[in-house]
Amino acid sequence: MRKLKMALQKSGRLSEPSAELLRDCGIYFSNGFGKLKSEAENFPLEIFFLRDDDIPEYVADGVADAGIVGENVLAEKSDKRIKVVEKLGFGRCRLSIAVPKTFSYESILDLQGKRIATTYPRILDRFLRMKEIEAEIHTISGSVEIAPSIGLADAVCDLVSSGSTLFTNGLKEVEVVMNSEAVMIARADMDNFLCKILEKLIFRIRAVRQAKENKYILLNVPNDKLESVCRLIPGMKSPTVMPLAKPGWSSVHSVIAAEDFWEVVEKLKNEGAEGILVISIDQMIR
Ligand code: ATP
Ligand code: ZN
Repeated sequence: MRKLKMALQKSGRLSEPSAELLRDCGIYFSNGFGKLKSEAENFPLEIFFLRDDDIPEYVADGVADAGIVGENVLAEKSDKRIKVVEKLGFGRCRLSIAVPKTFSYESILDLQGKRIATTYPRILDRFLRMKEIEAEIHTISGSVEIAPSIGLADAVCDLVSSGSTLFTNGLKEVEVVMNSEAVMIARADMDNFLCKILEKLIFRIRAVRQAKENKYILLNVPNDKLESVCRLIPGMKSPTVMPLAKPGWSSVHSVIAAEDFWEVVEKLKNEGAEGILVISIDQMIR
């Protein structure tokens, strides 16, 4: 049977979260060190392990049908033969311009005529044109952050997440060029058979992500507080309410957003809820 060929980063920041996402979707494969290819055991998926920068090209050329890359890589290699199918919520970072701490930076006009080192020349060029700044772009393939200290450039344009790498290299972030996260990309001209496999996978990915964003909650409430408690945790359609063996009390089950869970729990306690249990959800299909 034909399989969907998917390219993942071989080793780097996206490798483990990509593999974990597929595992959470119930798809198992071995990705031992040095492996080039792997087949999923229980899903029509063949996996290629590649350098992230090469993934858009492999997909555009049809060597792979789909792949997981950062939006930053995709924007640099932009190609009409590729489409973004789903944002994946991990690998968040930003592509930013940074200058030495001693540079008294006031506005983007300070970059006029300067030399900027980057591994993202196309994105940077587009950004500078938009801002009507003329600067010299120096394309280098790695260790961009040391370029100013060795006199190669006046500024850098590089990926940042916490900013600690910039800081330890005596740099400060001054402009955000783009925000990025990992995305699932696919070849724009996939046939129906492969589209169906990808759709099945995306359906599972959404269920996994929704599950991570929500929690299952169970609690006991005196019956006279049922209405106000149900208003606090309306759930997917409405909460489940069941009588306890103890007269005058009910058990309420519902789903709440993981991010405001502590706040909701406090309100529930104020309403007289007891025996509150909060459970992680594996999959959630609305
Ligand atoms: P490869 O050997 O595959 O070319 P790489 O060194 O280019 O690896 P990584 O550093 O593993 O790549 O980063 C892969 C992707 O992870 C980036 O393109 C970006 O989308 C994302 N990312 C998230 N946070 C950061 C960060 N702080 N620095 C760099 N990349 C980040
Ligand atoms: Zn790379």
